[in-house]
Amino acid sequence: MKQVFNFSAGPAVLPKPVLEKAQAELLNYNNTGISVMEMSHRSKMYEDILQAAKSNLKKLMAIPDNYSILFLQGGASLQFHMVPLNFAQNKKIGVIDTGNWSLKAIEEAEKINGTTVEVLASSKDKNYSYIPSINSIPDDLAYLHITSNNTLEGTVFTDYPDTDVPLVLDASSNILSCDLDVSKFALIYAGAQKNIGPAGVTVVIIRNDFKSDVENLPSMLSYENMIKTDSMFNTPPTYGIYVANLVFEWILDQGGVLAITEANRDKANRLYDYIDSSDFYTCPVDGKDRSINNIPFKTGSETLDNVFIKKAEEQNLINIKGHRLIGGMRASLYNAFPSEGVDSLIHFMKTFKEETK
Ligand SMILES: *Cc1c(COP(=O)(O)O)cnc(C)c1O
Repeated sequence: MKQVFNFSAGPAVLPKPVLEKAQAELLNYNNTGISVMEMSHRSKMYEDILQAAKSNLKKLMAIPDNYSILFLQGGASLQFHMVPLNFAQNKKIGVIDTGNWSLKAIEEAEKINGTTVEVLASSKDKNYSYIPSINSIPDDLAYLHITSNNTLEGTVFTDYPDTDVPLVLDASSNILSCDLDVSKFALIYAGAQKNIGPAGVTVVIIRNDFKSDVENLPSMLSYENMIKTDSMFNTPPTYGIYVANLVFEWILDQGGVLAITEANRDKANRLYDYIDSSDFYTCPVDGKDRSINNIPFKTGSETLDNVFIKKAEEQNLINIKGHRLIGGMRASLYNAFPSEGVDSLIHFMKTFKEETK
């Protein structure tokens, strides 16, 4: 099998030991003679997998006891709608506008009955290349929505406001890859396909006192119902949750989130250092706000960028094309992305630069 380094922003690279374990267990899980895919979600065997996934995630993120952990469907995009549906009908919410995904969160919230959205800060003026500071937070907000890591633009929040207004966090692209104080948030959500596992699972971590006052919500869109039924109101994405749990076990084996953050920082710093030291590549993001997960860069010529992307692929450095809205290149270096892949990329960037000059 050829060695490929996959820079995809999502669905993204998974740890090789996880895929190997899933493969080894594919036909015969734990001597049951069946695959996890074939198991009743109500069986004891599957119940054990779900509970292990919850307790491993709880351990990894030090999730306090007064929070519930849910595995839902519909991706982060359904959360854009589900959060305001539960908490902001005929109410006002605040949003920090940091680019594409936060704009989607605004758009979906505005579709909810009577929800008004106040943008408290925005970095639109400079093409979303930095994290704007939040000057003041009105205290009549139902919640304040923040996107922790901006997957397209390559920016990341590091300081969250201290406020009595409930904070809601879209952590889709950096959950489990940096230290996060869960107790600061009323609700955290993340689509799994960047740092957790296969697409199709959405992790929600919700504080138990953050309750909706809306009656007759659709059962599938009610957090309270999903808490009450332990994510089992209907058939949950069973196989995705199983793989997510293998990823959680793998992160624990790596020494937990802090150890993996160190490794991620090292990978990202090596790439940023090379970009900054070269007189050929540039990264548009302000130093202090740079994401360690998604690193956008350009050569300064769109034509050259396209040649770069094509040649990189020939060298088995795949999926490095930037998002169509941003252009250029983007290296997504999630937890499972191997350190050697960064060496290979830098080596390729040096060669490409020399060949082009
Ligand atoms: C990928 C992503 C989303 C969208 O996730 P889906 O699961 O595809 O709906 C939302 N927010 C952020 C920050 C993302 O990176």
